[in-house]
Amino acid sequence: MSEEHHYDLVVVGGGPAGSSAAFTAAKNGVKVALLEKENSIAETVRTSGVTWIQSIKEFGIPDDCYNPIKNFSFCSPNNEVTISDSIPRAAVLDVRKTYRWLAHEAEQLGVDIFVKMNVSEVIKNEKGDIVGVKGDGPDGKVTFHSKVVIDASGFTSTVCKAMGFVTQWKRFGAGAEYEVKAEKADSETWWLMVGQQYSPAGYAWIFPLGNNTVRIGVGVGKPESNVDPTQRLKELMEKKLGPIKKLGEITPIEFHYGLIPNDGLSRKTVFNNLILVGDSAGQANPLVLEGIRYAIKFGRVAGKVSAVAIKSGKTDKDALYPYEENWRKEIESKINSAGKVQDRWIGLTDEEWDKELDIIKELKSEEFLDFIKADFGLSNMIKLATHHPKLAVRQLFNLVKGKK
Ligand SMILES: Cc1cc2nc3c(=O)[nH]c(=O)nc-3n(C[C@H](O)[C@H](O)[C@H](O)COP(=O)(O)OP(=O)(O)OC[C@H]3O[C@@H](n4cnc5c(N)ncnc54)[C@H](O)[C@@H]3O)c2cc1C
Repeated sequence: MSEEHHYDLVVVGGGPAGSSAAFTAAKNGVKVALLEKENSIAETVRTSGVTWIQSIKEFGIPDDCYNPIKNFSFCSPNNEVTISDSIPRAAVLDVRKTYRWLAHEAEQLGVDIFVKMNVSEVIKNEKGDIVGVKGDGPDGKVTFHSKVVIDASGFTSTVCKAMGFVTQWKRFGAGAEYEVKAEKADSETWWLMVGQQYSPAGYAWIFPLGNNTVRIGVGVGKPESNVDPTQRLKELMEKKLGPIKKLGEITPIEFHYGLIPNDGLSRKTVFNNLILVGDSAGQANPLVLEGIRYAIKFGRVAGKVSAVAIKSGKTDKDALYPYEENWRKEIESKINSAGKVQDRWIGLTDEEWDKELDIIKELKSEEFLDFIKADFGLSNMIKLATHHPKLAVRQLFNLVKGKK
């Protein structure tokens, strides 16, 4: 007989969104299973792990999980800018350690974690609503019955796809990265590298982790470019282009590869008995395609809203809607604004990038960070669009604040 379980909530995917959802659901008193297809949480790293100290503090991520960053360097083929902060406001996460910490926090509250559990099917009731999932585990098929399912499976959106609610993302970023030991790494400075030679529709990066370790990567927008990011990364590292040369001797430790949705906030994220969160919902800042903080933040909201709905005995889409209302209020207009800057950036020639860096040079560190984080508060944008002494900066922010 095949194995069978009954839970209040089943969370599919043990990434930052899934672990965070499981954590708050358990905290709010429901019985939770977290299903992860890999052999362990964060077995494969698919991200560069840049995030912000403010979010790290808000989530309570331990100090030994990240390396703080103070200097933000940008280079284009013929220009360079470094914006320095007095205190570090950005960070590069030890991704494995952070994701395992998130899962451990959930486990401590009683969440049952099933690794090596590849969810492949959904279970529906007579109305066609989801009431569980089936996974392939080490000992065969396992059935999980539940009142609510959270799809936190990332880019693949496994559950939602199996329900027939969504198809593959059309627009997305593909990224390849080597974590390396670098002889002359500067642990407080990141580099973003723009222009055709680095990436025709995207950017390359150097993100330091401390201890002479850095992540060197290339991200390419699809379908805008057909460049293979892995191939381009190898070329950049071989030629030691731009700031890569400053790193001295490089020894690769680990290769990372991943895909991230870039279709804006195009999806509905609540259905009867089902929530989508993190990359499966497309919740990423399109400017630099960073989604970890949203995955954790809205994962926590999804877990709490599910628990409240389960305890009330009503788990249809209306009962789960407070989750969608919450994230839309928080990020929808910011992401739409960031999408406009991204559209502008994707079309820039090398010469235009050289000029764009001149605009970035005019920003104060807080303005630059708000910009790159897509934290476009309306009053700040209006201030920059109206009163900034440089015309080019005013034009940029006029573009950002305009209606979509
Ligand atoms: C190259 C690259 C670089 C990036 N850099 C950054 C960055 O610097 N900063 C930042 O904030 N964001 C970055 N991102 C984005 C960030 O990684 C994502 O936004 C974030 O990981 C989303 O978290 P998630 O939990 O939704 O999905 P994921 O982290 O993808 O987690 C999904 C989990 O579900 C599991 N899973 C999938 N299918 C199944 C299944 N069928 N059954 C069971 N389990 C399943 C997977 O194994 C995985 O563990 C980057 C993305 C890429 C591709």
